Amino acid sequence: MEEIKLLSLEVINEIAAGEVIEKPSAVVKELIENSIDAKSKRIDVNIVSGGIRKILVVDDGIGINDRYIEKSILRHATSKMNNNTLNNIKSLGFRGEALYAIANASNLSIISRTKNMNTARKLEVSFGEIKKNSPHKGNIGTIICVEELFKRLPVRKKFLKSERAEALAIKNLIKKISLAYPNISFSFSEEGKDKLFLIGKDDTDSERLRVKEIIGKDFLDSSIFIKKDYSNFSFRLYASIPTYNKANWQNSAIIINGRLIKDKAILGVLKAAYAGLLAGNRYPVIILYVKINPKILDINVHPSKTEIRILNRTEINSSLIKMIRSELEKLGLRYSIDSQRALLNSFQNVNKENNKQEIINLPENTVIKKNSSININQEGNADNKYRLGLARAQINNMFIVSQTENSIILIDQHAAHERIVLESLKKDYFNNKVSRQVLLVPEILNVEEDIDLLFTRKKEIYSLGFIFDDYGDNSIIVREIPAILGKINIKILFEDLLENIKEVGIINPMNTSIEKILSSIACHNSIRAGKKLNIEEMNAMLRLMEKTPNSGQCNHGRPTFIELGLKDVEGLFGRI
Ligand code: ADP
Ligand code: MG
Repeated sequence: MEEIKLLSLEVINEIAAGEVIEKPSAVVKELIENSIDAKSKRIDVNIVSGGIRKILVVDDGIGINDRYIEKSILRHATSKMNNNTLNNIKSLGFRGEALYAIANASNLSIISRTKNMNTARKLEVSFGEIKKNSPHKGNIGTIICVEELFKRLPVRKKFLKSERAEALAIKNLIKKISLAYPNISFSFSEEGKDKLFLIGKDDTDSERLRVKEIIGKDFLDSSIFIKKDYSNFSFRLYASIPTYNKANWQNSAIIINGRLIKDKAILGVLKAAYAGLLAGNRYPVIILYVKINPKILDINVHPSKTEIRILNRTEINSSLIKMIRSELEKLGLRYSIDSQRALLNSFQNVNKENNKQEIINLPENTVIKKNSSININQEGNADNKYRLGLARAQINNMFIVSQTENSIILIDQHAAHERIVLESLKKDYFNNKVSRQVLLVPEILNVEEDIDLLFTRKKEIYSLGFIFDDYGDNSIIVREIPAILGKINIKILFEDLLENIKEVGIINPMNTSIEKILSSIACHNSIRAGKKLNIEEMNAMLRLMEKTPNSGQCNHGRPTFIELGLKDVEGLFGRI
């Protein structure tokens, strides 16, 4: 029989530390949370070499009394547990593990001063061992300096991503945390260079301003704000309208009781609220603030406290879905294009209803108002031989109405054009001759952590029709793009392209990965719903559709057109 032995203390410490601080960004998260718990109004973070060399966090919080400074690095030592219960946690920390874990995995120094101390105190610890505890000069607040993180844990160090990726993860983390605390000023610098500076404000508008600073003005302009209170919880939420969507959830944040939470279930609920409004591979951007009575919340399910257990989750989920859905409905958005049959059925139902009444009241919106956006062509004859007929009108700058010998066709111009572009991109790609356009004004894009990815995949991206070069400081200069794309927002296109490349891994012309990538590119060029077209443009589009394979469906699988047989129309009017 194999002998069972206890782990050595070093191994136990290493495992414990690993649970809380598996990477530099996790250390930064714990330190910032401590500063927030200490009621700081300003938190400054500096890092060197992605935080592996050095992490410095300076706050102006309440400080640690010199009597407790040594105790602060002991395992399970915390000042935050009231009445010894996990049932009513209001602080971000409560496990008393972070400083212990960090002290064991680095050279740590803590300089801290409370308002009752005349001078600050400095504690120096090297890989778990206290080296010095002495008076030091310093303001009220705390300075934590972590150096040579994981030096003694080569295994962990080996698994770290590149320094650049770590630095970016830290910056993104600070941005996300700052969304939860618009009253706190945050700064971030990397290798001595300032990267972020956010001023905290206490007024009512501060949250909105912070969202604008972090997620962007475009997002705020394209989103709705909803606020609602229920008995045990309340929501505040900024949710993008469906036309503003992304390839993933990266720009979204869920903040529950001031805590950034990773919760797949809630993301699923948010996505469900947009069902029918967004393709399966597109995501809204949502900043959701939830306040929940701490009594129905269990935060202690994961060492890094990014997951939670909510007792009445079903109630929260359904309230959330209802709330978003009803606000989106108020925007008057169409949910999806019904199939021919559903449309016909609805016509027939209306008909039956109306037959019951002696007098038919037309709903108000069937009256064509003078200023309505119907674009009509009465010329041309109907006995044409084209499969999709001749264009007759455009409705709401969204749909083309055409007529064939024996049918009326409604075409979703955006969906149809997307398919046309995709099929053309595909053809060019497989023939190895993507024609490109040289940009008159090359576009400079800041691509941050994706720079490595871009250059390792440069050849593949080149074959898709994009030419770009390094432009220094994590940015690239885009010089050429596929010709068929016309005038597009290159920044957003690249964002999506990169997300898709990450998702599919290697682009393989032999499988669906290429279809996915090209389809995301096609999506950017397509004539948007909302573009006014003249009759020639409409007819040109119909002729292109006829030549394009798969043109009956858009890239997301919805129909691009519906056709009503004149016979069916006659039937609707009871003529046959
Ligand atoms: P926890 O946050 O779970 O209590 P930590 O190990 O993160 O555990 O911190 C231990 C204790 O050290 C805290 O409870 C707090 O009293 C003190 N502390 C840590 N960082 C700070 C800080 N920036 N300002 C004031 N006190 C701090
Ligand atoms: Mg803590």
